Formats: sequence, C-alpha cells, structure tokens
Amino acid sequence: MRIVMLGPPGAGKGTQAARLADHFGIPHLSTGDMIRHAIASGTSVGISAQAAMERGELLSDELIVTFVDERIREADASMGFILDGFPRTPGQASALDAILAQSGSAIDSVLELMVDHAVLLERILKRAEVARLSGRTVRRDDNSEALNVRLHAYAAETAPLSKYYQDMGILKAINGLQDVDAVTQSALSVLRSGRSSPMTAPTLS
Ligand code: AMP
Repeated sequence: MRIVMLGPPGAGKGTQAARLADHFGIPHLSTGDMIRHAIASGTSVGISAQAAMERGELLSDELIVTFVDERIREADASMGFILDGFPRTPGQASALDAILAQSGSAIDSVLELMVDHAVLLERILKRAEVARLSGRTVRRDDNSEALNVRLHAYAAETAPLSKYYQDMGILKAINGLQDVDAVTQSALSVLRSGRSSPMTAPTLS
C-alpha cells in the first residue's frame, strides 16, 4: 500500500500518517523529518538546507527527490509506505511516479486533509506551545512569519497536485476538522471503500 498525505501545514498530516503507518505496519516517511534529522546531524545537506527551512521556504526538488528515492528503496518500504510532506510540487510528483514506475509500482491512494485555513495558525502555534511546555524542541518554522511563507508555498506549488491526483482517480478527500480519532477512522474507511468521506466541513479557503 503506497499512500501520499496531502494538506497544508498544520492539517494533521504527520499525526495521521503515523497512525496509518502503525495500523498497516508500513513506514511513515516524512521529508520534513529527514531534513530536520540532517540538520541535527550537522551533515552538509542539513547545513545548506537549514536557513531556507527555517524561513518556511521549500527546498529544491533535486535535493528532496534524492532523499525520497534512497529511502523508498530500503527494505522496510518494499511492501509500501506513507509519504508525509512529499510530493509538494508538480516536479516532485512526476519524479515520484517515474521512480515507482521503475519497479512496476505506483501510488495507490492520495489522502487530502481538508481544513479551513483559519485554524492552521492556531494549530501550529499550539503545537509550538505544547512542545515548549513539554521540554521538546520547538520547530523553528512554527511561527506566524514562517507559516505565512509555508502557506504561500502550499497554495502556489502543492495545491495543484490535488487536480493531478484527481485526474489519476486516486485522490480521496478527508474532513480534517474532525477530532484526531475521527480523521483516522475516515481515512481507514476511504482506503477500504475507495470513496472520499462526506464533506460536512468547510473546504480549503
Ligand atoms: P514539514 O515537516 O513537512 O512541514 O516540512 C518542513 C520544511 O521542510 C518545509 O517547510 C520545507 O522547508 C522542507 N520540506 C519538507 N518536505 C519538502 C518537500 N517535499 N519539498 C521541499 N521542501 C520540503
């Protein structure tokens, strides 16, 4: 099972990807985590990526595709994976298709978490506060300035991917405004039925 999570920053992709990965016993591959790991390890890639990431800007397709290409060739990803934060541009989406085609595979489902943009800043600032209070590292791009840049990047580069995957017939919309358990249940149900969950909440504004 090869799944892509789509949705703006703060939509809950990471939380849901981790839960679904656990449920299906497949790895959760977050490109944001890969970059944060490279930064924390002080690799040359990490050092060169750090400033742009902290400003909320997207990193180059070339760099990110190399990370993903290497990671999905690892043994634990042979039965499938959940991609979180990738692809984020049309170039990344076609590179992913090409990489998978080499082994005769393809993305099975794309889950798009639909949330009202008004809640995103609130969620991100809350995530930073919870991390701070529990003594964990606060993401340096979890602030309103960087979030603005991230939302613009999402609208310009990532949002067009909905249509790309819709045209392929694999896009499934999920109401991301429900509570965490209900979002997971909706995701499992659309993966089982192949149909999008009924949208009772506002769509992307
Ligand atoms: P995330 O943890 O998914 O919110 O990603 C945090 C940051 O990592 C992004 O704002 C970008 O700077 C960088 N990043 C993660 N994934 C990608 C990607 N697929 N393409 C470009 N930049 C990315």
